[in-house]
Amino acid sequence: MLDCLFCKIRDGEIPGDIVYENDYVLAFNDINPVAPIHILIIPKEHISTLNDLEENHTQTMGELFLAAKSIASKEGLSESGYRTVFNCNEDAQQTVFHIHLHLIGGRKMTWPPG
Ligand code: AMP
Ligand code: ZN
Repeated sequence: MLDCLFCKIRDGEIPGDIVYENDYVLAFNDINPVAPIHILIIPKEHISTLNDLEENHTQTMGELFLAAKSIASKEGLSESGYRTVFNCNEDAQQTVFHIHLHLIGGRKMTWPPG
């Protein structure tokens, strides 16, 4: 999609610190990490928010979580733990409107989130 930051990273138009890629997803380090490990996992297909999900996105969404599991393992987080988050729209502070799964780990977190 035109003027989408994460589509531009997917297309190599702006740089991304890519850590994982397959046919469905791309993962790169967050530019402003909130923990020692903060990776964003995006579908290669542009989907703006969780509200835009359709039945045909089922495989892609599953691939996001399989990628999270695999990256977490590679980063040594599987046992200690990690958090996966989708923010949707304003109240959740979504700022980039190409859905992305935050994979956050490497420190003790609190609950509930702010
Ligand atoms: P959200 O608030 O859920 O929409 O998350 C957007 C995330 O994208 C934030 O954690 C930002 O730090 C991150 N971000 C913004 N621009 C870039 C970029 N060019 N490369 C990597 N991460 C980015
Ligand atoms: Zn996009």
